[in-house]
Amino acid sequence: MIFMSIQNKYDVIVAGAGVAGISAAIKASSHGAKTLLVERYSFLGGMSSAGMVTPFMKYWIKDKVLVRGVFENLQNEMRKIEGMIDNGFYALEFRKAAYKLLKEANVDILFNAEIIATDFKDRILKSITVQSNNKEIIIQANVFIDTSGDASLIYLSNLPFQKGDEKTGNLQTMTLFFRMGGIDIDKVKENAWKNKEDYFSWIFDTTDYKNIISIAGFFNSVKRAVEKGELHKELEYIFFTTLPEKGEGAFNTTNITGLDASSSYDLTKAEIIGREQINRVVNFLVKEIKGFENSYLLESAVQVGVRETRRVIGDYTINGNDVKKGMKFQDAIARACYGIDIHGQEDEESRMEELPEGQYYEIPMRALFVKDADNILAAGRCVSSTREGHSAVRIQPTCSAIGEACGAVAALAIKDNCPIRNVDYQKIRKELSDNLD
Ligand SMILES: Cc1cc2nc3c(=O)[nH]c(=O)nc-3n(C[C@H](O)[C@H](O)[C@H](O)COP(=O)(O)OP(=O)(O)OC[C@H]3O[C@@H](n4cnc5c(N)ncnc54)[C@H](O)[C@@H]3O)c2cc1C
Repeated sequence: MIFMSIQNKYDVIVAGAGVAGISAAIKASSHGAKTLLVERYSFLGGMSSAGMVTPFMKYWIKDKVLVRGVFENLQNEMRKIEGMIDNGFYALEFRKAAYKLLKEANVDILFNAEIIATDFKDRILKSITVQSNNKEIIIQANVFIDTSGDASLIYLSNLPFQKGDEKTGNLQTMTLFFRMGGIDIDKVKENAWKNKEDYFSWIFDTTDYKNIISIAGFFNSVKRAVEKGELHKELEYIFFTTLPEKGEGAFNTTNITGLDASSSYDLTKAEIIGREQINRVVNFLVKEIKGFENSYLLESAVQVGVRETRRVIGDYTINGNDVKKGMKFQDAIARACYGIDIHGQEDEESRMEELPEGQYYEIPMRALFVKDADNILAAGRCVSSTREGHSAVRIQPTCSAIGEACGAVAALAIKDNCPIRNVDYQKIRKELSDNLD
C-alpha cells in the first residue's frame, strides 16, 4: 500500500529506510505486522543510495553464502534489470529493487518525514513525531525498530548510546562516493597485475587479472600527487569497484577527517570538502593514470558517506573478539565474515583485519534489544556494538541480515501478543533459516 494515506497507529514502525530498515520492514510486513517505514529523504536506500555505497562487501565463505533472505532478493531484483554485476550495483537500481519488494510486502512508506521527537516513558516508546511538510504528525506503534544509522530513536528518547572510539572518541573518516565513465578498465587491471606492490593485496584474489572486480591502491602515484599538492593530504589511495556498464567505476576514495556526522554543521563541511576532493582526484586520474586518459566524472553521491556515529546499547554488545574469534551463539540471528575495518583519523592507524578463509561469526538475538526499553529493537549501522565490533558488522549484507531479524522478532511479538524479549527463539530461528542453515 505504498503512498496511500498513513494510519495513526501501526503494529511496527521502522525508523530509517537504509538497507537495514528496508529489510526489517519487508520481513515484519510479510509476516503479518502492519508496518510503516519512515524516511527523512524522498527516496529509499540511505547509504546504499544517497551515499552511493554501491559495492556489497564479503558475505560468503568458501562455497557458503552467509546472507540470503531479503538481501538475496534485493540482489536478484537488481541483477534481473542489469543493475548489478559481481558485487557492484547502481544506486538507482537498488531503489527500484527495494520499492518492488516493499510494495509486494505491503509496507506503508512515509517519505519527507524526519523523526524529531519521541514519547518514551516507563521503558515504552509510545509514539514518534515526524516533521512532514511543515506539519508535525504523531504516529503510534506497538514495536519500533531503529534503523536510522544515527540511533535517532534512542537519542530522542534520551536512552544511553555510545559514540566513536571508547578511549579517544575518534569516529571513522567520511567518504563522498563518485562514479566515473570512459575508463579503460582492462588496461588499469593489467597494469595493476604487473605492479602488485603498488596495490592492496586483497584485490588479487583471483587467477586472472581480467577477473579483478575492485581496484585499490596506486599508492606511489597518490603519494607523489599529495607531495606536489595536487591531491589533498588526507588521500592515501584510489579505490574503485567496477559496475555493469563497461568502463564505469564507483569510487570509494575521498577521505574526510576530523568531523562528526551527527552534527549538521560538520556534515555541511564534509559535503564541501568531499566535493573539492573529487574534483582533484578526477583531474589527477585523467592526467596521471594509465587507462583513465578518456575518463570523466558521471556523478557524485547525493550525500557524504557516513561510517560511524552513535551506537545503541543493547542487552548484548557485539565486540571485536566476537568477530576475530568467530563466536557462535545459542540465540544466533545472523552470520557474517567481514573483519575489523576502521578508517582511522589523522592521528590514528587505519585497520583492516580479514578473518581466515572459512571463518565466520554470529550475531545473538540479545544484541537487537535496546537496553532500558521494552519495545525498541535496533539494527544496521547503529546496532549495539563496540567500535571494533561495529567496524565489522556495519557492511550492507550484515545490516540487512540484522534488520531482517528485527523484522522477524517484531512480527512474532505482534502475532504472539508478547513483549519482544519473550518471543520464542526457536520460532525466530525457523523464520531466519535462510541466513542460519
Ligand atoms: C564511505 C563508506 C564506504 C562503505 N563501503 C562499504 C562497502 O564497500 N560495502 C558494504 O557492504 N558496506 C560498506 N559501507 C557500510 C554501509 O554502506 C553502511 O554501514 C550501511 O549501508 C548502513 O545501512 P543502514 O541501513 O544501517 O543505515 P543508512 O543507510 O545510514 O540508513 C539510515 C536511514 O535513516 C534515515 N534517517 C536517519 N535519521 C532519520 C530521522 N530522524 N528520521 C527519518 N529518517 C532518518 C536516513 O536518511 C537513512 O535513509 C560503507 C559505508 C561508507 C559510509
